[in-house]
Amino acid sequence: MADGRLIDRCGRPIRSLRVSVTDRCNLRCRYCMPAEGVPLAPKSSLLDFEGITRAVRVAASLGVTRIRVTGGEPLLRRDLPELLAMLAREPGVTDLSLTTNAVLLERHVEALRDSGVRRLNVSLDSLRPDRFEQMTRMAALEDAWRGIRAASAAGFDPIKINSVVLAGFNDDELDEWVELTREANVVVRFLELMPIGEGAEARRLGGYCDLTQRREELVKRFALEAVPGPGGNGPAVYLRAPGAAGLIGFITPLSNPYCDRCTRFRLTSTGGVRPCLAQDLEISIADAVRAGDDAAIAAGFREAAALKADGHAWRAGGVTETSMSTLGG
Ligand code: SAM
Ligand code: SF4
Repeated sequence: MADGRLIDRCGRPIRSLRVSVTDRCNLRCRYCMPAEGVPLAPKSSLLDFEGITRAVRVAASLGVTRIRVTGGEPLLRRDLPELLAMLAREPGVTDLSLTTNAVLLERHVEALRDSGVRRLNVSLDSLRPDRFEQMTRMAALEDAWRGIRAASAAGFDPIKINSVVLAGFNDDELDEWVELTREANVVVRFLELMPIGEGAEARRLGGYCDLTQRREELVKRFALEAVPGPGGNGPAVYLRAPGAAGLIGFITPLSNPYCDRCTRFRLTSTGGVRPCLAQDLEISIADAVRAGDDAAIAAGFREAAALKADGHAWRAGGVTETSMSTLGG
């Protein structure tokens, strides 16, 4: 087994890995996928559960402690709880979480809880059924809420709800989300649109909303107080309305970049290591995983660390061609 920490060329330690288990999705969010979907990898090219677990074990031996399972829509991967249980048993993994659009969550909640995953991130961009449908091209808001309620009842805590805020589309809902956190023990996080995949086109259409500016307005209007974030140590800044049960978070990759603190890698469902969201760069460890060659897997992670960009060029007009569903959002 390899040893030595994974440090990138700017001195940032790599501590977290987003693991995509599929590039397929049951929704078609407009900033992520066109209506007809994106080209999909053949199912035979997906890493199997043993392979994913092996890659995670090697990453953990290099200092990665936080694993977030994602996709595409991860709940479309058959027997996902089995994989989560395998990852939860890895001694180096101290934080295991899952990102989902929650449409299929209700039926899987108990198996997920029993698998050992403790934290859930749900992506949900609008409180309004018509807008949810417009955004995702599917009338499934109520399914997502049923999933969130079931997860809360099953003891998932915290549940984070991530909402990409688009100018002129859902940026008038921020106040409602703040109000919702007064009673509900959820963490609502607002995300800036990134020029990734279809998101680049959405930006051209004026969809980008500067959330640093919106945060300042909300702080004044609701007397929001800064608070430490719930576990996970991601790039978000957290706030709370006085006396509220839940929190508000802001993730501002464009208006207030956090690249200097980025300790994240991604692993695609077909075994590509992606060191940075802003780079269309992928180091394949698929063959090494299939061969069970841990040294070659570690070498792949190291190569990616040596190539990780120091920051993004999105504000200067740069775009990432690969969609989030393919690279593992
Ligand atoms: N399907 C799952 C879901 O939606 O939670 C997991 C994968 S999805 C690609 C992960 C996250 O990426 C979602 O929260 C989604 O909103 C976000 N995302 C996708 N494209 C984006 C973009 N261009 N800019 C910002 N966030 C994006
Ligand atoms: Fe699917 Fe998630 Fe992309 Fe929406 S953001 S299309 S739910 S992968």
